[in-house]
Amino acid sequence: MYGGTFDPIHNGHIHVIRELISRNVVDRLLVVPAGEPRLREEAPVATGAQRRQMCQLAISSLEAEIANKVEVNPIEVLRQGPSYAIDTVEAIAATYEGATISLILGTDAFEKIDQWHRAAELKKMVEFIVIDRPDFPGQPNLAIDALAVSATEIRSHKSDQIPAPVAAYIKEHNLYASK
Ligand code: ATP
Repeated sequence: MYGGTFDPIHNGHIHVIRELISRNVVDRLLVVPAGEPRLREEAPVATGAQRRQMCQLAISSLEAEIANKVEVNPIEVLRQGPSYAIDTVEAIAATYEGATISLILGTDAFEKIDQWHRAAELKKMVEFIVIDRPDFPGQPNLAIDALAVSATEIRSHKSDQIPAPVAAYIKEHNLYASK
C-alpha cells in the first residue's frame, strides 16, 4: 500500500513504484491517494478526484510489466470525512485475505507514524517499507536511490519531474497555476 496526497504524483513516486515491483519487494502495489490527509498544514490543492485521475494517468503510462502489478485504489478519496490508514488497511486486509500488507513510506512520513490514528494496532497489522528520501532525515530500511523531488516543488514550479500525461492534465485543468 503506497498512500500519499499525490498532489500531484511525481517521478519520485514513480521511481519508488518501479523499484519495488522490479525488485520483487512486493507482488502488487496499491497507490492510495488520500481523501482528507492528516498532519498537513494545508489542504491539498487538487481535488481527490483530480489526484486520483493523475495517479491513474501516471500508472497507465508505465511499461506493462510494471503497470500490470499496480492499481490506483480510490477507497480514501471516495470515503466521506477523515480517512485513517488503519481503516484502509482493515478494508484491504478483508479484500486480500491472507496477504501480508506492507505500508510504503518515505522517511519523512515514517517519522510521524506514532501520531497516526491507532498507531499501535496499525503497527501490528502491517510491515513497513521505509524508503530513503534525499533532503529528509530518518532511517530507511530500503535504499533505492530515491529522487530528490517533492510535490511541493512541482506545485511551485521549481521542478518539472512529472510524467508527461500528468503534466498535460495539470495544464488542461489549470492546476497549481498561482502556487
Ligand atoms: P509534498 O511536497 O506535498 O509534501 P510529497 O512529494 O512528499 O508531497 P506525498 O504525496 O506526500 O508527496 O508522498 C507520498 C509518499 O511518498 C510519502 O510516504 C513520501 O514520503 C513518499 N515520497 C514522496 N516523494 C518521494 C521521493 N522523491 N522519493 C521517495 N519517496 C517519496
